[in-house]
Amino acid sequence: MKIGIYGGTFNPPHVGHIQGARYALQTLGLDLLLMIPAQIAPHKQIPEGSPSGEVRLRMLQLGLGEEEKIQTSDLELRREGTSYTYLTVNQLREQYPEAEIYLLIGTDMFLSFSQWKYPEKIMEKTTLVVLYRGERGEREAIEEKKQELEKQGGKILVLDNPVVSISSTDLRRMLVFGCADPFLPPAVGEYIRENRLYGTGENYRNLPMEKLEKVVVSLLKPNRVKHVLGCRDTAVALAKRWGADETDAGRAGILHDITKALDGGLQLTLCREYGTMLDTFSAQNPKTLHALTGSLVAERIFGENPAVVSAIRSHTTGKANMNLLEKIIYVADYMEPNRSFPGVEKLRELAFTDIDGALRLGLEMTLALLKEQNRMISPESRQALDYLKQNHRAGAL
Ligand code: FE
Ligand code: FE
Repeated sequence: MKIGIYGGTFNPPHVGHIQGARYALQTLGLDLLLMIPAQIAPHKQIPEGSPSGEVRLRMLQLGLGEEEKIQTSDLELRREGTSYTYLTVNQLREQYPEAEIYLLIGTDMFLSFSQWKYPEKIMEKTTLVVLYRGERGEREAIEEKKQELEKQGGKILVLDNPVVSISSTDLRRMLVFGCADPFLPPAVGEYIRENRLYGTGENYRNLPMEKLEKVVVSLLKPNRVKHVLGCRDTAVALAKRWGADETDAGRAGILHDITKALDGGLQLTLCREYGTMLDTFSAQNPKTLHALTGSLVAERIFGENPAVVSAIRSHTTGKANMNLLEKIIYVADYMEPNRSFPGVEKLRELAFTDIDGALRLGLEMTLALLKEQNRMISPESRQALDYLKQNHRAGAL
C-alpha cells in the first residue's frame, strides 16, 4: 500500500493545493492521500486573524468534495502543542506498518528540511516528494538539497507540479481585493464569504486615516511600508505648499502602491476580474500595472474619490497635462525621504520651489534610465514630457 501525507497550514486551502494533491495521487500511484492541516507550523508563524484549525479542516473538506482516495485528517489538530512532522510520520507508521509512506512538501519546506525536528527520522520512514511549482531559480537549489539529503540516505522525488501557483499570502491579498475566485474551489470561496473570513466581510470604504494605515500596512510587503508612509507624509507636505487638498494627497499617497506586492500574473488577474481592457504597453509590461490596479482597488474597495483614484493611476508613468494632485503624487513617490539616488536632492528642492520642474526632472530621469536599460517606454511618459517641454517655464505653475 502506498500512502501520501500532505501537510500544511491550508490558510486557506486553494486550487493549487487540491490540484497538487490530485496530481501527486496519480503520478505516484497512491492508494490513499491524507491532507493534514497543521496546528501550529514550526517553520511558519500563522498570520493574525487566521481561522482555527477546525475551520481550515472544514474548508479543505469542502475544497476536496467527493474524492475517494484523498482524505482529510485531524491528526495534527487533535495533538497537543506544535505539529511536528516526525510525530505524524511515527503515528502513521504505527497505523500502517507495511505501507510505503510518501511525504509531500513544497519547495520552501524542502529547502529548510534540515532545520526540521529529527529530519533523519523522517527520512528513515518516508520518501520525500517535492512539489515543485516552477519557482524561478529554485530548480538548482532543489537539486543541491536533494543530493545532500541522498548522501544522508534520504529518498527524494521531485515532481514538476504543473498546477496553479499562488502563495497563501498573495491569496489573502486577493481576497481583500475581491479577486480570489480564480484560485479557490467555489465551495471554499462561498464559505469564506459567508463566514466573513480573511477580512472579506469588512467595509473598507472611507476609512479614517488611522484605520486605513493599518489595513494598507497589512497588505504591503514589509520592506515597502516605509516608502509608502514616507510618500503619504511628503504628499501632504507638498499639498500644503502648493494649495492642494491635503486629505486627498494623504489618501492617494498611502494607497498608491496598494497592489505592488502582486506579481505580473496577479496584476493581470486583477484587471480581468475588474473587467478592465488593457492597452498594448500594459499588456506587455504587466509589472507596471500596479498603478492601474491600485487605482481600481482604491476606487472599488476603499471608495476613494475620482481625484485620488486618478492620482494613483498616473503615479508611475505620468501623463500629459497632469492636475496638481497628480503631479504631487508623482513627485512625492519619487523623492520621499527613503529614496536615495544621485540627483534626489535636486528633486527634493525643486518639489517645493517648482513642482513642474520637479515633475519634468523626474520624467527625464526615468526615461533616461529606461533607455539605458533598453526597456520599453510608456507612451504616457513621452506625452507627459512633451507636454511639459511645451508648457513649463521654471517657477510658473
Ligand atoms: Fe508605485
Ligand atoms: Fe511608490
